[in-house]
Amino acid sequence: MTDGFGRNVNYLRMSVTELCNLRCRYCMPAEGVCKKEHAEMLTEEEMITAVEAAASLGITKLRITGGEPLVKKNILSICRRAAQVAGIRELALTTNGVLLPQFARPLREAGVERVNISLDTLNPEKYSYITRIGTLSDALAGIQAALDAGFQKVKINAVLIGGFNDDEILPLALLTKQYPVDVRFIELMPMYDSGDFDQSAYIPGSVVLERLPEAVPVSGDGGVAKRYRLPDAMGCIGLINPVSAQFCGTCSRIRLTADGKLKPCLHSPEEYPIKGLSFPEMRAQMERAILWKPKWHGNLNAAHRSRAGRDMNRIGG
Ligand code: SAM
Ligand code: SF4
Repeated sequence: MTDGFGRNVNYLRMSVTELCNLRCRYCMPAEGVCKKEHAEMLTEEEMITAVEAAASLGITKLRITGGEPLVKKNILSICRRAAQVAGIRELALTTNGVLLPQFARPLREAGVERVNISLDTLNPEKYSYITRIGTLSDALAGIQAALDAGFQKVKINAVLIGGFNDDEILPLALLTKQYPVDVRFIELMPMYDSGDFDQSAYIPGSVVLERLPEAVPVSGDGGVAKRYRLPDAMGCIGLINPVSAQFCGTCSRIRLTADGKLKPCLHSPEEYPIKGLSFPEMRAQMERAILWKPKWHGNLNAAHRSRAGRDMNRIGG
């Protein structure tokens, strides 16, 4: 469906939970999030109805996210049913990877075609620091499990954090030579409360290119990522620069939070509730959300934090 500014909105990111088995410092408070009343969250039925409503409005691409989607107990059923919704041509999932050794094959069998795995560092101590409770070897085992399970595409996402992992740009990028994976560097966004990292830790995506002089541009559709390749690499390097190079003008996304709020713009406060609605009501609400998708979310920087009113784990990254 075309929004009020002529953009084709064909991509839904659906969060299935706010909960997570990690506590990344830029995403979640140390104590995690309060478990909400069951009644406040979307049921599996409502999630599938929302996907059907979205597909009826021209959404063709669905990404399941969270929180951590693999801690959701009915995640396989949600994926299997979502994959079967007529009109959904691409089903992807974003995960921290820790539970992929157990879930990679069943997810693939359920119809998930692509996985993005978050990995900000290759250093075990730094991994435990950034995730507060995670173990690097678990995430690496998850990446291997994803490769073994035969997904169409495996991408690794690293948030660029000055003073934390800017010294690991080359080692992370070299994963594209060791494995058939894309590695994408994402600029740190000033969310509602990005915890321990304020915007002094922000570094622009252009730093990646300074550290990778051998990388050459790759043409073709990388979505919001600008793509590059190292010599003889199997995968691409992607730069996702939501802060230094906002992509509002070509944004094709709408988000659905686990508590049933449609967010037509990641960094804007507008939310359209769909919890408890029937298919026609949900479809009408989604149509409104797309039609009134904001043109631009405004500047993002230390002085202008995201107006999302939620952190990423409560939106769906
Ligand atoms: N738990 C899953 C994971 O970590 O991949 C999915 C949800 S997580 C919220 C989705 C993505 O959002 C992750 O790649 C994470 O690094 C990113 N993210 C969270 N907070 C962010 C921030 N302040 N700036 C940039 N990216 C952020
Ligand atoms: Fe959990 Fe993902 Fe947020 Fe890390 S980035 S705390 S893994 S939801």
